[in-house]
Amino acid sequence: MLSYKHAFHAGNHADVLKHACLAILLNKLTQKNKPLSYIDTHAGSGLYNLNSDDARKNAEFADGIDRLLAARDALPALQTYLSVVRSFRDQEQYPGSPALAAQLLRPDDRLILMELHNNEFANLKHHLGHDPRAACHHRNGLEGVLALCPPTPKRGLVLIDPPYELNDEYVQITTTVKQLHRKWPTGIIAIWYPLLAHARNQAPHMLKHLVKDKPANLFVAELWVKAQDSEFGMHGSGMAFINLPWQVDEQIRGVLAQLEKTLTGKGGGSRSEWLVAPSHR
Ligand code: SAM
Repeated sequence: MLSYKHAFHAGNHADVLKHACLAILLNKLTQKNKPLSYIDTHAGSGLYNLNSDDARKNAEFADGIDRLLAARDALPALQTYLSVVRSFRDQEQYPGSPALAAQLLRPDDRLILMELHNNEFANLKHHLGHDPRAACHHRNGLEGVLALCPPTPKRGLVLIDPPYELNDEYVQITTTVKQLHRKWPTGIIAIWYPLLAHARNQAPHMLKHLVKDKPANLFVAELWVKAQDSEFGMHGSGMAFINLPWQVDEQIRGVLAQLEKTLTGKGGGSRSEWLVAPSHR
């Protein structure tokens, strides 16, 4: 039984980290005059109404995207993300990863969007189904990504953004990533993960496994907005990347510093590092 609903969290600090990184990547990839594939294994609704009861329940966006939009000194590396988000925010909306990608991709690019939950899939179809570049699949994204990759066009990026509500989800992800990287060695893989209380924090374990599988390279960026609790709660999140393009690590480091300054409170912080260095460095 799937109970996770992203609308409760739309635009929070974790979305900001994930989507700011996604925008940097798509911005970089669309500079080259060659079409690309964007694959979202856990697409969600595609777009969120910030006036809905769900989004307003804890109003997580107030300490996330709204704080960043109010900051006066946004870095150039954040401009692409902020300009898309601002146009949605003006209509009381926040773009999920599919809507953000759809805004940044070009007419010849392709979106493959997978979502398992019935209601979320219906929302996804409603929001993105009319886009001729997008194929929406009502299916398990971890199985789907292996079935559909390498995609056509073969140049591209996979976002893996699960809810981590099942015990074995971390293991499923490392297994899938290992197979995917083998099937599509040039594909960029971006994995979001939560940073949880000591008792439940499985992220270090997952990263260790990803490293053990010997990817060509692995870069991580993490942001935590408060101190880690011993029992409950999520204090931050991270993004792990395989095949991060040249110089994007430096842009992400800059953005991380700004997010730390703008979104964190007491006990907050950030880190970024190559866990497996690429051979060209
Ligand atoms: N990527 C979206 C974004 O950034 O806007 C948010 C995705 S949300 C964190 C995770 C989504 O994965 C939920 O909508 C959930 O219903 C869906 N989901 C859970 N397990 C799945 C699976 N095995 N395959 C595809 N979708 C799944």
